[in-house]
Order: sequence, then structure tokens, then C-alpha cells
Amino acid sequence: MLGPVRCQPITARNGRLEEMQTVIFRNASILNPADATIVPDQTIVVESGRIADIASSATAHDALTIDVAGKTVMPGLIDCHTHPAVVDIDVTAMAEWPASYVTALAGRALRGMLYRGFTTIRDVGGGDFGLARAVEEGVFTGPRIFYGGKQLTQTGGAGDWRAPGRSVYDDNYHSPAFGVICDGVPEVRRAVREEVRRGAHHIKVYLSGAVDSASDRIDSTQFSIEELRAIVEEANAANIYVAGHAYTSRAINRGLECGVRSIEHGNLMDESSIPLFHHHNAFYVPTIVTYHALAGAAREGRVHADVEMKLQDVLEKAMTALELAHRSGLRIAFGTDLFADLHDQQPQEFVLRSEVQPAAAIIRSATTTAAELLERTGELGVVAPGAYADLLVVDGNPLEDIRVLTKPDASLKLIMKQGSIVKNEL
Ligand code: ZN
Repeated sequence: MLGPVRCQPITARNGRLEEMQTVIFRNASILNPADATIVPDQTIVVESGRIADIASSATAHDALTIDVAGKTVMPGLIDCHTHPAVVDIDVTAMAEWPASYVTALAGRALRGMLYRGFTTIRDVGGGDFGLARAVEEGVFTGPRIFYGGKQLTQTGGAGDWRAPGRSVYDDNYHSPAFGVICDGVPEVRRAVREEVRRGAHHIKVYLSGAVDSASDRIDSTQFSIEELRAIVEEANAANIYVAGHAYTSRAINRGLECGVRSIEHGNLMDESSIPLFHHHNAFYVPTIVTYHALAGAAREGRVHADVEMKLQDVLEKAMTALELAHRSGLRIAFGTDLFADLHDQQPQEFVLRSEVQPAAAIIRSATTTAAELLERTGELGVVAPGAYADLLVVDGNPLEDIRVLTKPDASLKLIMKQGSIVKNEL
């Protein structure tokens, strides 16, 4: 599939990159996710936001030279399932909030992600070109955003945030509710075209019920086969793909058979989905930490009782699904699905996955495999000539101990995004 043609905030406006100074990192131990190796004594030359060269030595006039003293230099992390613009645990309540307040809180969430080492995110609901542009222009400090816009949901589906007693849905596009309700083939086609018009990198669709939604069941399937095929056809017509939220194999398999390219969550997946993932070259994006974070919020009495009940169903099964996916050789991308004030638990996803996956596989999920999902192989998720200069200087070796990534304040000595130094404690 070709990459998206019109969506990405990957080149800066305002000529900011042209003014950027050349930066040379010396004595770098470069972590290569693909083969899980560390190559010591390297020099990395950064020019105009990209890695210009990797060599054993280099000099440049007017360059800022940073000696990293043998520390690990790895590519910036990629979180493929985020919602910076979902700012309340109670999503039904959030739908009533002014967009200005939601945007302000989203800015804070984005900043936190970048300081945890995430230089790129895929926003699978809530974010739009306004948020992406605010980051691109430096109004907000945050990772670059690949956004899908509003999530497509059927009436009463997981993105329909009306409480059961409410009849009116605010379909004003600027409402913070991040679902767009569409029923029937003509409406789903229009909904996809609308997101394409707004520059969506992908289309997010609810294939099943959700944990935090108002009135549906986890084990439901959502949208008809005809609607799903129309959604995929419209997305593919624009050279973008469809990401599908699903829990059970019944919902996952319907999505994969209709051409959905990434399955989000998938906690209740069984063996029947594995051949379909392989056959359709699809990606799996588990989001385990969010269930632990929500369980913590539930213990504090911050979660509705019906959400808490659904949570128990998926929390226990999340690791079983990940183990099955890893054992079966699926392409697994890193995702967290956190929101509101739970974002700071983002690095815990590394620790949870390490129960069933080796560190190298987890790092690939947040670098090379994530870049593949974003259709940016070679540009993101690698330290290599031509790639964007998204670099982390890490005190420690995440291949030996993935937990160093869970203490970003202490372990990330330098964070660079697209050639700009965000943090430098060297
Ligand atoms: Zn999500």
C-alpha cells in the first residue's frame, strides 16, 4: 500500500528547519532495533532535522558537538495508540466540555509524552489537524502526530457517547466527542471522505463494543459487513488504511476479512484470528497498560460501575492475547490507549509486555514495527542516514533492562525531535 499523500506534519512550516544548527554526537553506542545490536564508538551527524551521516569521525564548521560518552543512542519511541485529546475518564461527561479547554489539556498530555521519549504518536481518536499543526509550529511541545480524526461508530456503538437516557447527539464537528455516528453504506462513505478531507492518516472504526462506552457490550460486533467493506474501500481509495477497535475474535475476524489493517486491543482474541492476520498482513496493537490504569482509577471510585464490570473481562485476558500474538509471529506495534490524568503510566506498557516478550521485541514494536504501521519505514524508528533525527540518549541499555525506559526523568539524558533538542542533561 502506498503511503498517505497529504496528511503529515513531517516537514516544518516557517522555515524553522533551515535555520537549525548542525549537531554532531560523538562516542555514541547506537541501538539498532531491527537486529537488537549496539554498535559502539559512532558519530552521528544531524542536519536540517535529519540524520545526515553516521561515521567513525566527522567534523563540521558551526556544528554543536555533544560527547555522549558511550551512552546508548536509540531512535525516539512511537506510541501507535494514543488519545491526547481525551481528557476525562468519564468520556460521556467530556462530550459536554468546550473544545478550548480540551485542547489546552491535550497540550499538556502531548508535552508529557515527548518528555517520556515518545517523538511520534498515532492518535486514534480525538486529535485532528489543529492539534498536529500546533505541534508542528511549536505552539505545543509534543510528538509529531499521525491523526485519524473522529472515530466512525454506528448508532449505539462504542463511539456513541450518549448516555442511554439521552436522545440528542451533538454532531457539531468541534464537539470534543470523538465519535462520528454513521449508519448505512452512504453515511459511512461520507464519514470516511470527511476525515480524508481533513487530512486523516488513517480511519478509525469501532468493530465491537468498548470498555468506557455508555451503552454497548464488549462482545458485540458493530457495523455490517457491507458498511465495513465500504469504509475500507473509501479509505483505500485515498491511499490510507483502516484501524479497527475490537476485543473478540468474532469482531476481529470480520474486520480482517473486510481489509482492516490494524486491530486495536484484541484482548479476547483466540487462535482463529492468527491465520487471518498473516493472510492480510495486518498489525496487532495491544494496549495493556490502560486496563491496569483504569483498574487503579476504579479502586479510587472514579469509574462507573458498568465500566468497571467490562474492565474485568478484558484485563485478565490481555496478556494471554499478547502471548498468543507473540508466539504466532504477528507484527505487534506498541500502543497504550491512556487518557485524562493516566498518561504518566505510558512507560509501564514496556514492563507489562516484558512478562511475555523479550526486550528486543518490545523495542521493535515501539520503533521499526511502529514505523511500518505508519508507513514511514526508514524515516522513523531507526538511527540511520536519511531518517528523521528523533534521538534518545539513554543512561543504560534498554535491550538488557527495558525498565530504564520507565524512568525517563533520570534515564533520558537527551531528547531530540526532528533535529531540535528538547532536553539536554549531558
Ligand atoms: Zn483507544
